[in-house]
Amino acid sequence: MPAVTPTPAQRHHAEQLRRLLQRAAHAYYVLDAPVMEDAVYDQLFRELEELERAHPELRSLDSPTQRVGGAPAESFTTVEHRIPLASLTNINITILKKLNKAYITNLDLVEKWHVSLLQTLSKSSGKNELAPDLAMVGELKIDGNALTLSYENGVLVRAATRGDGERGEEITTNVRTIQSVPLRLNLESPPEWLEVRGEALILDSSFARINGEREDRGEALFANPRNACAGTLRQLDPNVVADRNLDFFAYTLYLPTDWKPSGTSDPVPPHTQWDALQWLKAAGFQVNPNSALLHNLTEIEAFFCRWEEDRSHLEYTIDGVVLKLDDLELQQQIQNLQSISIFNETPNPQWARALKFPPEEVETKLLRVVAQVGVTGKVTPKAVFEPRDLAKTMVSNASLHNADQLAALD
Ligand code: NAD
Repeated sequence: MPAVTPTPAQRHHAEQLRRLLQRAAHAYYVLDAPVMEDAVYDQLFRELEELERAHPELRSLDSPTQRVGGAPAESFTTVEHRIPLASLTNINITILKKLNKAYITNLDLVEKWHVSLLQTLSKSSGKNELAPDLAMVGELKIDGNALTLSYENGVLVRAATRGDGERGEEITTNVRTIQSVPLRLNLESPPEWLEVRGEALILDSSFARINGEREDRGEALFANPRNACAGTLRQLDPNVVADRNLDFFAYTLYLPTDWKPSGTSDPVPPHTQWDALQWLKAAGFQVNPNSALLHNLTEIEAFFCRWEEDRSHLEYTIDGVVLKLDDLELQQQIQNLQSISIFNETPNPQWARALKFPPEEVETKLLRVVAQVGVTGKVTPKAVFEPRDLAKTMVSNASLHNADQLAALD
C-alpha cells in the first residue's frame, strides 16, 4: 500500500499521542508511579502504531513505538547488554463469553500469527506445502521486571534491568539478595560466559505489606506488583531489598555456541525452549512449574483459558501468557529473516507473542461521588463504592476521568 501524506490534523494527533505516551512511560518505567491504566496506555500505543503504519513519515526516532521500556535511572551505573533485550508483541485477547468454565475467545490474531510463521518457515525452507503444527512453549506472563544475569565461569558477576533494551541499570548487589538467583551455577564445567533472562517478581503478600506500610507513613502507594518490584530493585539499600523477599523465575538461556560440557554430568546445550527450561533448572535456577509444551491452537487456547481462570490462585500476579516457538533453530531462522527486514516495524521477536488477559471487571454499588483536589488544584470527581476485590486488590473508589460521559447517561 503506497504511503499517504498525513493531514495536519493527523500530524498533530501523532505528536499529542507521542507526548502523552512518553510522559506515561517515564512515570511508569523511571518513577515507578504510573499515571494511567495499562489498558489505556496500550490503546493509545496501538492508535499511534496504526497512524505510523498508515503514514510512515510520522514515525519519528523519538516515538515510543521505536523503543523498548524506559531509559536507565541515573542513580545506578548504566551497563550495555551483551545481547539486547527485546519487548514482546502483545495480543489483547477478548473473552467474548464466559459460561462457567467454558470460554469463547477471539484467538484469530493468534491463528493469523501462527499461520504466518508456518508460511514464512515453509517458504524459507524451499518447500511449498505448509509445515505441520509448530510446537510452542506456553509460559505465564508474570507481572514483574525482566532481568539479565551474567555469569562468568559459573559465577554471577552482573545483574541488570532491561532499561531501554540496549542499556540497563546495574543492580547486582540488590539481585544477590534474591534467594532463587544462584550465585554459583550447579555445573561442573561451566562456560566462560552465560546469560540468563528471567522475571524478578514480588509476591502478592509482600506487595500488600509494603503498600500497607506506605499507607501508614502517608506515602504514595505502588500501583501494582510490577511497580513495587521495580521500586524495590532500585533501592539504594540492599537490606530493604532483602526484607521484601523478591523472587526470580528464569526463562531464557544464552550459551556460547561452541560450549560443550566436557565429559561430565552437565546437561548438553538445548535445541528447544522446553529443553532450555530444563537446562536452567539443572543449572540451579527456579523455572516456573506452570509452563507447558503446546502442539496446536486448541492446546494454546486451553492454556490461555486455564490461566485466565486460575490466575487468582497464584501467589503472584500474571497479566497474560507468553507463547514462544519451541525449536531454537526455527527461532533463529525467523530472527534472521527479521533482521533482513522481511518483517518490519518493531524489533520485537516474531517467534513469540504475549497474550494479554482482558482487564478484570466486577459489579458494585455506587455510594457517593466526592470532589478530589489534586496537587495542582485541579478538581476531579471521585466515585466511592462498595469495596470489591479486583485484580487481587480491594478497590473502593475510582477517579472519574470520564465524568462528562457519565453525566450524559441517565
Ligand atoms: P510487556 O509487558 O508487554 O512484555 C514484555 C515483558 O514481559 C518482558 O520484558 C518481561 O518483563 C515480561 N515477561 C513476563 N513473563 C515472561 C516470560 N515468560 N517470557 C518473556 N517475558 C516475560 O512489555 P513491556 O515493554 O515490558 O511493557 C509494556 C507494557 O507496560 C504495556 O503494554 C503497558 O501495559 C505497560 N505500560 C504501562 C504504562 C502506563 O502508564 N500504565 C506505561 C508504559 C508501559
